[in-house]
Amino acid sequence: MTRQGAYKESDDMLIDEPKLPQQGQIAALPNEFNPSYLKIYYSKLFPHADLYRWMSYGNDGKHPACDSSYLGRREFSYTLDNDIFVRYNTFNSATELENSIKDKCPLKIDIGPIYNLNPAHRNAYAGDNVLTPVERELIFDIDMSDYDDVRYCCSGADVCLNCWPLMTVAVKVIDTSLRDDFGFRHILWVYSGRRGVHCWVCDRKARRLTNEQRAAVADYFRVYKGNENNYKKVSLMGQVLHPFLARSYTEVLKEYFETKLLTSQNLLSSEERYEKILEMIPDQSIASELRGKWQESRRSSSAKEDINIIRWEQLKQLQLKQLLQKHKCVEEIVFTYTYPRLDMEVSKHMNHLLKAPFCVHPKTGMPVCVPINPNNCEEFDPTTVPTLIQPLEELNREGLRSDVEGEWNKTSLANAIKLFRSSFLQPLLKICKEEMESSYNAKLQQSKNLLSW
Ligand SMILES: [Zn+2]
Repeated sequence: MTRQGAYKESDDMLIDEPKLPQQGQIAALPNEFNPSYLKIYYSKLFPHADLYRWMSYGNDGKHPACDSSYLGRREFSYTLDNDIFVRYNTFNSATELENSIKDKCPLKIDIGPIYNLNPAHRNAYAGDNVLTPVERELIFDIDMSDYDDVRYCCSGADVCLNCWPLMTVAVKVIDTSLRDDFGFRHILWVYSGRRGVHCWVCDRKARRLTNEQRAAVADYFRVYKGNENNYKKVSLMGQVLHPFLARSYTEVLKEYFETKLLTSQNLLSSEERYEKILEMIPDQSIASELRGKWQESRRSSSAKEDINIIRWEQLKQLQLKQLLQKHKCVEEIVFTYTYPRLDMEVSKHMNHLLKAPFCVHPKTGMPVCVPINPNNCEEFDPTTVPTLIQPLEELNREGLRSDVEGEWNKTSLANAIKLFRSSFLQPLLKICKEEMESSYNAKLQQSKNLLSW
């Protein structure tokens, strides 16, 4: 084969032919972003067919009950070079979707809702608000930069293994609740590429929630009542914790706070840091008793035991003496430092766009947005996520061949794509087929009953 044949250049996007070393040559690729890498990624590695199968939800034309307009009413938006944002791209088939992505080579692909009509044709219809979202996955966006007041290792979009447990906590708490409290089954968690996680709830009943119902679900997870001037961000009202919060606390938050974050973030190691926690103790005399102890222990501390743990135990001792019980103060501190912080607006509105899985993050070392298995999310390591370069180099080592379907299999993307299929896509498509079949049979039965009259 020739290199020419493997890469179709589009008319409107002139990109230099990808400059990978010749077959057999092993050379490290330059690490900075290069548009030609993206072109190879989309032509060789991106799982187009999986994206199509997911977005079709079984409407693939193979069953008489398929909705042939389904995929074509879904909005995809592209971010192109120079921050050009192109909304309302729509596709009627797997081939259209794949060709468009390969052609335009978007830096980012966002997925929007399904509308009542093809949004690309929105101008052909008269009147305001003709274009209405009718279906959309229930989505959650958890961004590490929202935790900057409770982590000291990094800030903004940076993450490391010391603060990443905050995301693990979020996945565990939200995933358990979505399954146990709401009964959802088809939930996809994705590393957002640099600074957090996205969650896609894809059950049919989740996709059909109204904005009001979405807001109610988002509110269910809300425990933050404070504002920026109020460090105490959590208010656990009432004598008894809501069962969801109580379970989150005993099964996840407490353990992560005490065994990881307390020491990895040195939450009580310095005066500046422990003062933030003392501020959350409503009884001033208790707070000053602790302050006195901690100022003392700074002078006499032995290096044997971690200072954060010693101080936390001292604080908890006061709880045991019933002194802090009334205000659920210990729990409020733990919630403040660990409880998931959701971007509520993303979850509340059907028409919010969210980055597609398997996109790359071109500006930041280029990690691929790979799925996270909620069942062992504590093993997920954001520092070893495949980057755009890595699978390309692996592919390069194997030799570029255009005749093999699924070349990702030889690369570090393999586990991510296999996980996407086995834990999410296959069970989802199975239930979509079953639902399609049963609604078809119900309709058949209905028309038979009508005929028999
Ligand atoms: Zn960090």
